[in-house]
Amino acid sequence: METKGILVVVSGFSGAGKGTIMKELLRRYDNYALSISATTRSPREGEQDGREYFFKTREEFEKMIAEDALIEHACYVENYYGTPRAYVEEQLALGKDVILEIEIQGALQIRKRFPDTLLLFISPPDAETLKKRLIGRGTETMEVIESRLARAVEEAEGIENYDYFIVNDELDECVEHVHSLIQEEHRRVSRSMELINEIRTELKAFQKG
Ligand code: 5GP
Repeated sequence: METKGILVVVSGFSGAGKGTIMKELLRRYDNYALSISATTRSPREGEQDGREYFFKTREEFEKMIAEDALIEHACYVENYYGTPRAYVEEQLALGKDVILEIEIQGALQIRKRFPDTLLLFISPPDAETLKKRLIGRGTETMEVIESRLARAVEEAEGIENYDYFIVNDELDECVEHVHSLIQEEHRRVSRSMELINEIRTELKAFQKG
């Protein structure tokens, strides 16, 4: 019997297609809750406050840090990004698997604070595809794209900290891989100790009888 959801971190280079994969995962399965981050970055065209992000001023964001309202936060290409605590705690308690789509510094903070988090890293099949996707998206200036590519070099150095590496070649396959990895994680012995102990007690009762 599962009593609690799993915390799942999904990272990947900017332009790896994480957003699309997460959207599809949530559309197909109903046991996932996607955390909405707070950020100081400006909304892109089509983004809505409270849907893609909670858009904050630097002052508002710093207040959230001071009030310990974020379970992690990081600076990424000159903006703050962070995960609000309340939603994550509430959804985990409801038994949902909570997904944080965050970059590597935040992922490492989460692993430290919550060691049984599942860490997934999503990558495009090769670097050229990454660059093409970033340019093709058309939402950033060339200068920002260059910064994001530079950041990808740093992030690539940290992949060993993750549990699984998933190549986003074909969307459908990638979504199913992510789903099955999370489902398998539920079967880890350390997550089933309550049931295991129940069975142990029952077995011992047989001995007495
Ligand atoms: P973008 O500006 O493209 O939406 O996101 C930039 C990077 O910030 C992505 O790698 C994204 O995963 C990451 N990110 C989004 N939200 C958070 C968050 O709450 N915390 C951290 N540490 N990174 C985040």
